Amino acid sequence: MAPKLLTLALISSCAAFTIPTSYNATKTVQPGSTTQAPAHEHEWVTVHIRADSAQNVHNPDSEPTYTDQVSGEAIQKSQILKGVGPPEAEEHRYFDWDETCTDANDRQMIFQAWQNFQPLVDTTTQRLTTLAAGYPEPGKAEKTNAKNEKYIKQTDPAFTQMFNARSGFLSNVKQAFESITAGIKSIPNRPGNDPGPPALRFVCDKHAQVKDQDGGTLCTSGAQAPEAQTFLAQSATDKNIEIKHRLSTASTIVFCPPFFDDTYAPTLNSILGSKPADYAFTLPEVNCKDRIMLHEYLHLKWTSDLFPGEGYDDIGWEKIAISAKKLRIDDHLKKPDAYAWYALYSFFNNYNGQCNDIWPKGVKRPTSRT
Ligand SMILES: [Zn+2]
Repeated sequence: MAPKLLTLALISSCAAFTIPTSYNATKTVQPGSTTQAPAHEHEWVTVHIRADSAQNVHNPDSEPTYTDQVSGEAIQKSQILKGVGPPEAEEHRYFDWDETCTDANDRQMIFQAWQNFQPLVDTTTQRLTTLAAGYPEPGKAEKTNAKNEKYIKQTDPAFTQMFNARSGFLSNVKQAFESITAGIKSIPNRPGNDPGPPALRFVCDKHAQVKDQDGGTLCTSGAQAPEAQTFLAQSATDKNIEIKHRLSTASTIVFCPPFFDDTYAPTLNSILGSKPADYAFTLPEVNCKDRIMLHEYLHLKWTSDLFPGEGYDDIGWEKIAISAKKLRIDDHLKKPDAYAWYALYSFFNNYNGQCNDIWPKGVKRPTSRT
């Protein structure tokens, strides 16, 4: 961007940036730090995640082949998404499906969220790049700096609330988004038991039927039900997902009932399509499946490996804004929902060339705008 435009960005209350034309979230349980072997007898399997011909997927439970409802192909259950998406999506996806993902509609919901949270990530990275480029004191970008923080407060209401306008940490936030892009778009190189990125299994638990390691229900239902849960590879704890859903070299994301609830979490596309182009959204109206996907991806070891600690994985824009104001920034930066809500907040502030603050009226902003 030319210096002239940077000056304009400083003056205007928010800088314009490109919005993708098309688009089509979570409580997460992280395994503890203990690494003892699971008590259950089960053969751990190695799974190579790609869905192309080079993929080497073992069939964890020696199940018969499965006729995919979408593609009509007879394939292993662990590969049942094959044929659902466009060829390039299939080529570049680095996940496979758990045996629970037998419902084509469930798979479509997850696949759409997976496919469409990526432009949201890219847009947010672009937004943060623009924001950083406008710092009045760029030489002090990595430090606490009053002028840069004032500029953020004047320029980006989303960063102001979700990260307490802490200008010195903008690059950390940007790196988190870049780590997702890098993880998704890099070509996997996973010979043998290489636990490296990217490796991922999706579990479909729309009806809260998946068990934990002790036979209890993994996804509870009701108001406290988690949206999704991420389990990292090769870490066993007493309270974890039933072993047959886990892989030695792949992380697992379990999608719980709220994810599949279109009232609680529609797609970003459907939110956009539900209102006129000039509609001014507010934060309570924009929760979506794309946010849940973004949140879970930030937990993964091969993206940002964010782990806020048991009981600190806040969900929701208001909790995050309060956390940003009250918590040490180092601890706040470990919360995936801070990034996920920043992405949505920023997106809708700037949607269709608007220059808004979609924070709802009547709710106190934890961080002042001046
Ligand atoms: Zn989480």
